[in-house]
Amino acid sequence: MRIFVTGGAGYIGSICVEELLNAGHQVTVFDNLTEGHRSAIDPRADFAQGDLLDPQGLQAALRAAGAEAVMHFAANALVGESMSNPTKYFRNNVTGGMHLLEAMNECGVKKIVFSSTCATFGTPERVPIDETLPQRPINPYGESKLIFEQMLRWYDEIHGIKSVALRYFNAAGASARFGEDHRIETHLIPNVLKVALGQKPNVSIFGTDYETPDGTCVRDYIHILDLAQAHMLALGREASAKYNLGTGGGTSVREIITACERVTGRKIEVLEQPRRSGDPARLIASSERIHSELGWAPKFQAIDPIIESAWAWHLRHPNGYGD
Ligand code: UDP
Repeated sequence: MRIFVTGGAGYIGSICVEELLNAGHQVTVFDNLTEGHRSAIDPRADFAQGDLLDPQGLQAALRAAGAEAVMHFAANALVGESMSNPTKYFRNNVTGGMHLLEAMNECGVKKIVFSSTCATFGTPERVPIDETLPQRPINPYGESKLIFEQMLRWYDEIHGIKSVALRYFNAAGASARFGEDHRIETHLIPNVLKVALGQKPNVSIFGTDYETPDGTCVRDYIHILDLAQAHMLALGREASAKYNLGTGGGTSVREIITACERVTGRKIEVLEQPRRSGDPARLIASSERIHSELGWAPKFQAIDPIIESAWAWHLRHPNGYGD
C-alpha cells in the first residue's frame, strides 16, 4: 500500500516507517522536523516537509503521495509540558488532527491508524486497563488525544473514514537503525541511559510515595517493534476500532533503574524528587482485544531485552541524531 506517515521522523514514527518499508509498502513521511530528525527518516521513504497547521500544504502533500492510508504519529506528547502549555496541545493535536482528517476527506483517503495513548484513561479505576474503562484524562495531553479519538467516530459516520486508534502504553527500546532522541528528554529510560553514558550525573525519581509496592510509579513498557507490528496489523482491519497496546506487565521507576544498571553494568545515581504533576500511579494495559481480533501479541515481555535494544542504540548514537 501507499502510506502517508505524519511524524515519520519522530521516535515511534521512524521505526514504524522502517517496518512498513521492510514489509514492502511505499511510504511518504510528512513531518515539520520540530521534534523529528531528518536523519531518522528512512532513505527508502519519500519526504514532504510540512506542518499540520498548514491545511493547504498538507492537502497538497497528501494528494501528491497518492496515499491509500494514513498513519498519524505527529503530535506533542509530553504530559508535564501539557500541564503548563495546554494551548500547544490543543492546537497541534486537535486542530492539526482536524486538518489531517479534512485533507483525507478531500483526497478520498479512507483509512487512518492513529497514535493514541493510555493517558486518555487518566487515573484508572483498576488495572489492567481494558477498552471498557471510562476515559477521563487528567492532563491536556491525554484530553487532546481523546478529542481526536472522538472526532474519528464522526469522520467514519459522516465520511466513511475507517480508523484504528492504538492507545500505547510506554513505548521503549530501539530498532537496529532508529531510536529515541528527543531534543528535550523527559522520558525515564533515555534519561537513565544518559546517566549510564556519563552525560548526566543522576536521574530524578519523581515521587516515592505512590501506592505501589516500592512507592514509585508503575508503567507498562512496550517494545517499539511490537508496537510497529500492531500498526501493520491495524492496516488490514476493515472496520473502525480502538485498542489498548501494552505487554500487560508493570515495571516501577526503581525497577527500571535497577534493570538499566544490570544491562549497562554501570551504577546509576538517583535523586528522589516530589511527584510530577499529571502522573497516575499505575498504568498497565490489557491487550486482550487486539490479541483476539488482530492476533497481536508482544514478542518482548521482559524489561531487560527492551532496555538492551535501547542501550545498544544509545551506545552507537551517544549524541542521538546529532541535530
Ligand atoms: N520518571 C522519573 N524520572 C524521569 C522521567 C520519568 O521518575 O526522569 C517517571 C515519571 O514520573 C513516570 C514514569 O517515570 O512515572 C514514566 O515516565 P515517562 O516520562 O517515561 O513516560 P509517561 O508515563 O509520562 O508517558
